[in-house]
Amino acid sequence: MAFTLRGDDVCQKTLPTPLPDPYWVAFSPSAAQCIGIPLSKNALPSDPKWLDVLAGNALETEKNQFLDPLSTVYSGHQFGVWAGQLGDGRAILLGDIGDQELQLKGAGMTRYSRMGDGRAVLRSSIREFLCSEAMHALGIPTSRALAVVGSKLPVRRETIETAAVCSRFAPSFIRIGHFEHFASLQNLVRLKELADLLIADHFTECLQSKAPYLELFKGILGRNAKLLAQWQAVGFCHGVLNSDNISVLGLTIDYGPFGFLDQFQVDHICNHSDHSGRYAYHRQPQIMHWNMACLASAFLPLLELDHSDKESQDLLHAEIDTFPVIYAQEWQRLFRAKLGLQQAEESDIALIENLMQMMHASRVDFTGLFRGLSDIKKDSEITSIRLRDEFVDREQIDQWLGQYIHRLQSESLSDHARALLMNQTNPKFILRNHLAQVAIEKAQQDDFTEIATLLSLLNTPYDEHPDFESYALPPPIDMPLTAVSCSS
Ligand code: AMP
Ligand code: MG
Ligand code: MG
Repeated sequence: MAFTLRGDDVCQKTLPTPLPDPYWVAFSPSAAQCIGIPLSKNALPSDPKWLDVLAGNALETEKNQFLDPLSTVYSGHQFGVWAGQLGDGRAILLGDIGDQELQLKGAGMTRYSRMGDGRAVLRSSIREFLCSEAMHALGIPTSRALAVVGSKLPVRRETIETAAVCSRFAPSFIRIGHFEHFASLQNLVRLKELADLLIADHFTECLQSKAPYLELFKGILGRNAKLLAQWQAVGFCHGVLNSDNISVLGLTIDYGPFGFLDQFQVDHICNHSDHSGRYAYHRQPQIMHWNMACLASAFLPLLELDHSDKESQDLLHAEIDTFPVIYAQEWQRLFRAKLGLQQAEESDIALIENLMQMMHASRVDFTGLFRGLSDIKKDSEITSIRLRDEFVDREQIDQWLGQYIHRLQSESLSDHARALLMNQTNPKFILRNHLAQVAIEKAQQDDFTEIATLLSLLNTPYDEHPDFESYALPPPIDMPLTAVSCSS
């Protein structure tokens, strides 16, 4: 819903810079339907003006007008260090469509571009597009991607590449960094406006509260704690969990050097610029917890409106401390479901953790392993279970399988019913880096068919798709790893 704050210190009207000779690279019909864009038979907008709007070359379609496009200011902590003012350096908020805010990413320079060119390259735009739609289909809160529009406009990164604009939408793109910005300037008026806007549009449950800002903080923290558990449960690594990339709505936003785990490695680092592993898979929950502490600092002046200074600090501390608890509860719920367990038993946690330790030791494919668990039956013969071959230590996995089967026998669901549920929980298809890379390389040769193929698989990640078995497999062992850096 509308970003209604105005003023020089908050945002600036920003017209997109035209993109020469634009063409469709990717389009998400399901995202379009979600915001009421009518489509023609070829699954593209029936109104051709949409291509120009999503390229940044026009501000009107037949039905929609985006006459007040703007970019907003925010600040943030990058890699644990206060980075000062940042802002929408290459994102332009076109305006509202339905109950969503529509943004163009890569549509040219803004007041906040700093040293950047305001553009995005084709490669990273395709990755953001595919991953947004994949996450949505996995049931994970995320900004949606509408389209990628390409052009032959050259853009300089490590090499010369071409420009693209990724259009995306979300109920709001407000980040922790927006709060940090106004807190750093001790601008209580703006802080309050930002909080009130969020409460009115997205956290209406706070309206009844005697301490609405504390309640808002609680709401933001709860959503992000649950989001993190969801990421861990599909093996998703975000790559750059800086506070300016964290949505206060608990959405996954700002897809950069993200990666889904192929071989499970608990300390996997997907961003090749992250030398210390700050954003490694196993550190993501504690990093999000840390980001919530950043948000709490920014919220302190808001709480002090209703409470004494000491009381405000104590209240926020108490809320921050709930993060690991909410996260752990959600993690346990999700991983129990991944194992097909309906009842909660205390020993389940050890069962899950032991499995993950073994997966780490043998570098087992994360997605494939969980998907394969649904083949196991209450009367399975351990030696006939195929997935045991994935583990180096057979004795250990056999012992685990024995415990797992025993545990399944205590459940009332039939094997068939459990398998159906598990296959709605453990996806078969995720956006593996090597698959995205093939689609990108073809797109760089003006062949966009692979993007469409991936989109349709990722839209229905729990279905079998027997003709596409190879897309469910980990990358071939001899395939060179594609380095994903911050360059985008
Ligand atoms: P990111 O790491 O992609 O989240 O970006 C961090 C900050 O740099 C944000 O404020 C971005 O808007 C800005 N930024 C990234 N790339 C560019 C670019 N090519 N031009 C201008 N600003 C950029
Ligand atoms: Mg960002
Ligand atoms: Mg970015």
